[in-house]
Amino acid sequence: MMFYSLNNTQEKSNFKEAIFNSLAGDGGLYFPERINKLSVDFLNNISNYNNYEIGYEIMKNFVGNSINSSDLVDIIQKTLNFDFKLYEVEKNIFSYELFHGPTLAFKDVGANFLANCLEYYSDEKILNILVATSGDTGAAVANSFYNKKDINVYVLFPKNKISDYQERQITSKGDNIYPIEIEGNFDDCQSLVKRAFKDKNLRSQIRISSANSINIGRWLPQSIYYFILLKELSKININNKINISVPSGNFGNICAGLIAMKMGLNVNNFIAATNINDTIPRYFKTGEYTPKKTIRTISNAMDVSDPNNFPRIEHIFDNNFQALKNKIRAEKVDEEETKNQIKKTYCKSKYILDPHGAVGLVGLSRYNLKNEIGIFLETAHPIKFRDSITEILDVNIDDPLKLTNECGSHKIALKNNYSDFIEFIKQSQ
Ligand SMILES: *Cc1c(COP(=O)(O)O)cnc(C)c1O
Repeated sequence: MMFYSLNNTQEKSNFKEAIFNSLAGDGGLYFPERINKLSVDFLNNISNYNNYEIGYEIMKNFVGNSINSSDLVDIIQKTLNFDFKLYEVEKNIFSYELFHGPTLAFKDVGANFLANCLEYYSDEKILNILVATSGDTGAAVANSFYNKKDINVYVLFPKNKISDYQERQITSKGDNIYPIEIEGNFDDCQSLVKRAFKDKNLRSQIRISSANSINIGRWLPQSIYYFILLKELSKININNKINISVPSGNFGNICAGLIAMKMGLNVNNFIAATNINDTIPRYFKTGEYTPKKTIRTISNAMDVSDPNNFPRIEHIFDNNFQALKNKIRAEKVDEEETKNQIKKTYCKSKYILDPHGAVGLVGLSRYNLKNEIGIFLETAHPIKFRDSITEILDVNIDDPLKLTNECGSHKIALKNNYSDFIEFIKQSQ
């Protein structure tokens, strides 16, 4: 299996090259040259498979012969060692909880898979992972790559703009994980990382790669849990049409859902729910793609105004805008609506949403389900946003990880300055 660049389908790499390079040589996003359909037999009998088997059935299509099958099984087992749960919040409306992993957000799946693949290919040369984060990616990546052989990780996060809980997750590891607090916002962090990727001089001296969802190793494994969803639904005998609402920022998660659909998952409609950073809902309405300055919200992992993965989504629909709009609805959800939903769901069902899941549920509730089923992805555990939640609800949220401040911080504080950043990377090699 090869992956081509969306800029030029003649420019191809295999799985290993694609995960090391992150982006194709011409700067384009990688995309699989083929999306195989899973067998009808497998889909009809999915409840007989365990999650590892499901993960393997999917990922073998993309990894091809770049990893032998017993090693791929091993990587999948290390990747999916936690639960994916469905919870019926209201009649016919389900929360699909993707937050039971080690850092309490769905990003654990992709980060684990990528880290285990890169470690598998380890060749004694240091690989440097650069990642800009608004919170969850950094936590997942710090956890997944901790103590991985010959890998250094630089996690750039904006000062005072991620939750306390996320900061603890990112800064408490140490060793090969360098948490760098940048005096600036998320876009500044992202610009520093992007500049490093374009810096030929730097790249001639050290190897760098990304663990953001531009990397197929982070992004594609996310299609696995859409099939685990199918299994969970079949366990409770639900065969109605399904509609899936995905709280979206960089649009990687929903794009993985579309890959699952291409592989044979039957989804009636997807709902892409954004917060007030609404470039895509506006684009759907007006046909004009005009990102605005990013605004901070309580669903901070979705504070993105120029979603990295949107070109992949357009590609899935062969750049047919109408076909895309027939399958995906885009819904913008404002802060008031998000907070009201958190209150309403708690009062009705005693279920504590996180702000991202709440955006997903608002988007879903605007959709007329008739006798269909609605599922929203609950992408993070509410504890990660404890401060926002406890301003809305007077509740105690149990912390499954029992994190405290006493366990130390390895934070490195830097100004928003490219040469300081590069200097730091070089001296830590
Ligand atoms: C990253 C993240 C999102 C957005 O996912 P994308 O793949 O970037 O669209 C949504 N919710 C949470 C909790 C996240 O961490």
